[in-house]
Amino acid sequence: MDIHNCVIIGSGPAGYTAAIYAARANLKPVLFTGKEPGGQLMITTDVENYPGYPDGIMGPQMMDEFKKQAERFGTDVRYELIEKVELDGDVKKMWTESGEEIKAHTVVISTGASAKWLGLDSETKLMNKGVSACAVCDGFFFKGLDVVVVGAGDTAAEEATYLAKLCPKVHMLVRRDEMRASKIMQDRVMKTENIEVHWNTETVEVLGTEEVDGVRVKNNKTGEESEIPAKAFFVAIGHKPNTQIFKNALDMDDTGYLITQADSSKTNIAGVFASGDAQDKVYRQAVTAAGTGCMAALDAERYLAEKEII
Ligand code: NDP
Repeated sequence: MDIHNCVIIGSGPAGYTAAIYAARANLKPVLFTGKEPGGQLMITTDVENYPGYPDGIMGPQMMDEFKKQAERFGTDVRYELIEKVELDGDVKKMWTESGEEIKAHTVVISTGASAKWLGLDSETKLMNKGVSACAVCDGFFFKGLDVVVVGAGDTAAEEATYLAKLCPKVHMLVRRDEMRASKIMQDRVMKTENIEVHWNTETVEVLGTEEVDGVRVKNNKTGEESEIPAKAFFVAIGHKPNTQIFKNALDMDDTGYLITQADSSKTNIAGVFASGDAQDKVYRQAVTAAGTGCMAALDAERYLAEKEII
């Protein structure tokens, strides 16, 4: 069985950027896309803050271009999930969902982060029946209908303004009396006439049996409960890192973000490098993820050279 120079796990901006650098350095990288090829940008609308796109670009188109660029230099992109790893020792072992064993001298982890849910039974029950964490994916199905967005960060603000273009009324549930979203995003929300912000408001239950009919909410200042009729419930309350398979293998903080050494992408295991949102809970931007993907590929290349493998 081949021992690959470099296996990259994950296919967001970090993974593809690592692939572009590793492929151009002739490492012949193999990239495993995971279950959500393209990562979080696949569920984003306009990306307006990535340098080089003065008019903005849609997230999925951007990821398609990242992928093409990685493949142009010879990256072997495989649409599979790595579900188990053994990272100790010089040869790192990984297993795909279909049971294939993969060996590599270096591993770049770019597994990103996934959407968080409120954890309500009614939310689980109505998942994909009106409950969604992706307005861009599912908003179209609720065109012309009233919807609810929960959350108060940039994601929630972005989802609410996106949905406001499709839906007559967007109710935004904010659990405090202020939003966490950046000023510019908050301004957009406040200037959009068909977004109604419900301050100090928590979700008690998503209503409906076969489909979402509304949301029971509670004002956490007054304790008063009320119902908001709506056909969809978009959850936009943040993300958690996809690092479960590295538990007990790699150092991570108490929320699961991988820990890297200062000024590098090195993890606590030699030859294993981490990039993107899996190790970044502070910046979490496409451009910072791409930057750390580049770092990981360069670190992998140096490691291989020091070990005289390349
Ligand atoms: P954030 O962690 O920034 O915000 C999560 C929001 O959800 C907070 O307002 C939080 O409330 C709220 N929340 C969390 N749990 C609950 C709950 N159980 N019930 C109700 N509300 C809850 O996550 P985002 O996904 O919004 O953003 C992540 C990062 O990505 C940020 O750095 C953001 O700037 C960036 N981003 C940038 C974009 C852009 O520039 N175009 C677009 C999207 C994201 P509270 O404030 O009370 O804690």
